[in-house]
Formats: sequence, C-alpha cells, structure tokens
Amino acid sequence: MGVEETLAQLVAIDSTSSKSNGAVVEYALARAVAAGLRARVTSYRDDRGTEKFQMLAFAPSETEEVELALVGHTDTVPFDASWAEALALTEREGKLYGRGACDTKGFIAAAITAIEETSVRALRRPLALVLTADEEVGCLGAKKLAESKPFRVRHAVVGEPTGLQPIRAGKGYCLADVTVRGREGHSAYPHLGASAVMRAARLVARVERIAGELKAGGHDSFDPPQTTVNVGLIAGGTAKNIIAGECRFTLEWRPVPGQRPEHVVELVEREVESLRAEDEGFECSVRVLRLDGGIETRADAPLVRALEELTGRDAGTISFGTEAPQLAELGADAVVFGPGDIRVAHRTGEFVPASELKEAVTILRGVIERFCAREHQ
Ligand SMILES: [Zn+2]
Repeated sequence: MGVEETLAQLVAIDSTSSKSNGAVVEYALARAVAAGLRARVTSYRDDRGTEKFQMLAFAPSETEEVELALVGHTDTVPFDASWAEALALTEREGKLYGRGACDTKGFIAAAITAIEETSVRALRRPLALVLTADEEVGCLGAKKLAESKPFRVRHAVVGEPTGLQPIRAGKGYCLADVTVRGREGHSAYPHLGASAVMRAARLVARVERIAGELKAGGHDSFDPPQTTVNVGLIAGGTAKNIIAGECRFTLEWRPVPGQRPEHVVELVEREVESLRAEDEGFECSVRVLRLDGGIETRADAPLVRALEELTGRDAGTISFGTEAPQLAELGADAVVFGPGDIRVAHRTGEFVPASELKEAVTILRGVIERFCAREHQ
C-alpha cells in the first residue's frame, strides 16, 4: 500500500484527543505485525475515564535497548464540523488535506511505509515504532512512557511537522492559573472595597516587564531567542457597578533549553510579594499546571548529522512543545522531524504536501538503514 493511501486510512479514523484512539492504534498494530514487527499495546484511562492506547512495536525482536525509535502521536486537535474533508483525505494541487494530515498522521504513514519497505527481520540493531496518545493535551501518553520506562532508547525521531528539517532543540511549555482576589462593594464607593481587576492589571503589567527582562537571557538559535511569556486569558468581576471580587488569568511561558522551567513562575511570585508589600490586602494564588523544560540535542549527535545528510537541510530549532523531552528521559538523542508545516497544523484546511510525504518515507528508510541495518554507522 502506498504512503498516501495509508495516510487516507489514518485520517479516516477520528482520533481527536477527547476520544479514544483505540481504532487508530488497532489499525497501526495490524500494519506493524504484518510488516514483521513484534508489537504490544498498553493502555491507561485519561482523567475523563476514556481508555487511551499506546503501541510499542519492535524489530527484529522485542527488546529493552532500542537503537532507533520512530515516535508519532496518534491524537489530533478537534476539527470544525463544517470541514467536509476533515476525515476524507483530499488531494488538490499536490496538497493532501485532512485533520492530522500534517500533525502527525503524515509522519506515522511515512514511518509505517518506510518500515514496510525495510527487511526488518535482517536488522542488526533494534528498531521501534512507538505510537503515543494525548500529545495535543499535554504529552500525557509520552509522559506515562517516560515514567514507566519500558525500554531505553539511543536515538529517537519524534514526528512533528517540520517541513522535513531536522530539529535538534525545542523550547519547553509551562502553564499556570493565577487567581487574584479583592473585596466586593458598590462601585460608587471604591474605598470600601478592593478591585481584583485593578490588582490583576498591576500584576499583568509586572509580567510584561518580566517578559522584557527575559530577552537578556536569550538562546541564539531560537526565533524569538528568549523565553516568551503570554497572558492568553483573563476574566474577572461580575458586573460593571460592582468592585470586582476576583480576577483570574492564565500565565503561559516557553522556556529556552538550559533554563529551569520554574524560573518564570519564581519571578512572578517575587512580583506578587512586592505588590503585597505595597498593598497589604493583595491576595493572589498561582497554581502551576505544567512545567515542561526545553530540550537540546548536541549539534554533532549522530542522529542530527545523519538527518542533515539525508535531508540536505541544516538542523534547526522550534518554539513549540513536542514529545522530545520524554524521549530524552528514556535516554535518547531526540530529533524532531516530519513532513508538513506547523503553521498549517491545528487549523481547518490542514494539509501535507504529497511530495514531502513521499520524501519523508525515503529519509526514514535511510535513517533505519544507517542506525539499524549497517554493522557500524
Ligand atoms: Zn503534533
């Protein structure tokens, strides 16, 4: 079966993160077993009680020491009900449209095809195909793998749309919920209350200042080079003529590799203390929801070099989160790589260029050949 047809079959299975990914894993399992891999599936329940599945498939035999892992996430972001092509892969002018075509079923289709085109029983060193769940909602499946450590990995290609450029470093992803409290009252008598919205505004202004100061601690290979901060949501108060009793906002930051993920939240906590020194009643709680650090694989790591040669592209960096940190926890030099452009992922009309999809098969076959088939790489 060709890579495009494989992608069409993967896209036809709705695997939005909120649903079970059982059918897509079952499909991949059948293909992996038919290709000669030893596969097993593990599962867990997400916090809504939905069962999620992850596939670990090995060649030539099951092992705890994997030489090369190809890792793809099976879940996708949701799609608009009016997008007719979401589950029906459609080609127009060399582009294949469908939810997940780019992020990341294109990579999975290419990985399955590359493995099918390889004599897996003759491999000298162990290859693994790893399919995860719940990447789009916080890399939850990959984190379970990193905790349970079912194997060690030396080199890992983490599938994400990078336009076939090898990516050796990525920023982390961190999120906190900030709640600022005030004292409600009639808005005609401000001195009788304390506005949570005004207090939150003061804190947000401090957050903006922190974001500016972070520019000093940059990491040249990134665009933008520094840890970035965003206040994406803010909500407070109950009516126009009531002094607001509560105001909440989200604090999101993407740390550069080498910086402790806690760094930004510690700076914000310090500002909270300083505001409290000026305003005795300033009450604020910061609840950290995610603290995933950045990751960097050495520029001279064998997998980086191999992918640079095979793609003809220099390795780069990305500013979005991936499962690479979890693969690094499993011991791997991780490189993010895949067909498609991240800028078209997550939107209606997501697509992968058919030519990149085919080229990805050739490149992955080359990586398998170098790391698992040859005596020495
Ligand atoms: Zn993705």
